[in-house]
Amino acid sequence: MKIAFHGAAQTVTGSKHLVTLDNGKKILLDCGMFQGMGDQTDELNKDFGFNAGDINYVILSHAHIDHCGLLPKLVKDGYKGKIFATPATKDLASILMEDSAGIQENDIKFVNKRLALEGLPNAQPLYTTLDALAAADRFETVEYDTWFAIDENISFSYTDAGHIIGSAAVHLRITENGKQTRITFSGDVGRYRDIILKSPAPFDQADYILIESTYGNTLHEQFHPTTDALLEWIENTCLKKKGKLIMPAFSVGRTQEILYALNLLSLENKLPAVDYYVDSPLSTKATEILKRYPQYFNESIQEVLKKDKDPFDFPGLKFTTSVDDSKRLNYLKDPCVIISASGMAEAGRVKHHISNNIENSRNSILLTGYCEPHSLGGRLKNGDKEVRIFGQWHQVNAEVGQIRSMSAHGDYNDLLHFLECQDVTKVKKVFLVHGEPDVQNDFRQKVLDKGFKNVDIPIRHQEIVID
Ligand SMILES: [Zn+2]
Repeated sequence: MKIAFHGAAQTVTGSKHLVTLDNGKKILLDCGMFQGMGDQTDELNKDFGFNAGDINYVILSHAHIDHCGLLPKLVKDGYKGKIFATPATKDLASILMEDSAGIQENDIKFVNKRLALEGLPNAQPLYTTLDALAAADRFETVEYDTWFAIDENISFSYTDAGHIIGSAAVHLRITENGKQTRITFSGDVGRYRDIILKSPAPFDQADYILIESTYGNTLHEQFHPTTDALLEWIENTCLKKKGKLIMPAFSVGRTQEILYALNLLSLENKLPAVDYYVDSPLSTKATEILKRYPQYFNESIQEVLKKDKDPFDFPGLKFTTSVDDSKRLNYLKDPCVIISASGMAEAGRVKHHISNNIENSRNSILLTGYCEPHSLGGRLKNGDKEVRIFGQWHQVNAEVGQIRSMSAHGDYNDLLHFLECQDVTKVKKVFLVHGEPDVQNDFRQKVLDKGFKNVDIPIRHQEIVID
């Protein structure tokens, strides 16, 4: 059989790996969107490098857009089969694909206005909301730790990857010419000390392993308790300065971690009595989905659940829905905390909140995750004294800070820990995916040092024969 790396090959987005059996059957692992690759991004997303109609099965690792974001295009372009996912991934991917379609439909309106002025024909989004709904209809759910036979030659199982709710590593068993080949695809690997999720689970022996390498040469900072840091920021901004604390946060994962940390403070009666708002429809939906899957939570949160049925809700917390409710937050005179998306403050309601509050030194902006250097969050992180938002320049008078301790990806120790369950002598090859080239080169050496014999870093569209 062969395996081809059509995305997340020497880059971190566009995850797409295609296994082709000798009998011609094709299994696609993930169908992610390329993101943030400058001018190339559109072109990369338009051409899969294979025919959608030729694929027989899709197995999805988790719901992040760089792993599931092109499923609606795959279905639109002729994919006729099912999309396998864990139940939580199905729920999350459905709302994220729909959200992505909405963003594209909005963006294309502006593009088409410009094209019309230049007398050029209209552009089309990669897919529409209807395409996203059609893709969501194709999901078939498979629980963790159960073997699922796709056909007479192919079966697979999922193990918990501890990265976001529902995230999984995929384990394939393929029988060809009377011989079984075992392929493991890590998906994205979480940390071994997540505050909500379980640690990545060990898995059965594999012959070939595809492992992500996002932080393959980084060690995350020692865990600085998020609750202490949050409390300091709330006390300083809302109690001392009587201002607003604006927190850009990713809708999936980060927002729920913050709510959980605030809830812990509330249970200890330490949380200042101000109003707390989650102002992002997507974050609200993602929080609802997470609450449906308490069986995937780790032991420490299970303990909390015994005394608090809803560890993501506390007195003073409100979820705003309508645009009017969101706008009303601008006129609030009292100190408050606003948690809103997007995490890099490049889009979404948080951008409005920042533009309305950034010039007042009583307020603070607390960044909670990774920010691309050119994003608004990145420029604030960089210490820019003036930033342009919606075409207008603003003085940065608000205090700007960041919480560094949270990441959904494991560092290199976590990634090596993930591989520890394997007998290195039995692994024929490890493929490093989902990482930048320099990082991958460093991580390759670390994997070799652990005794793995062959470690490859495939390039985009490279096809490799495996047996
Ligand atoms: Zn991910």
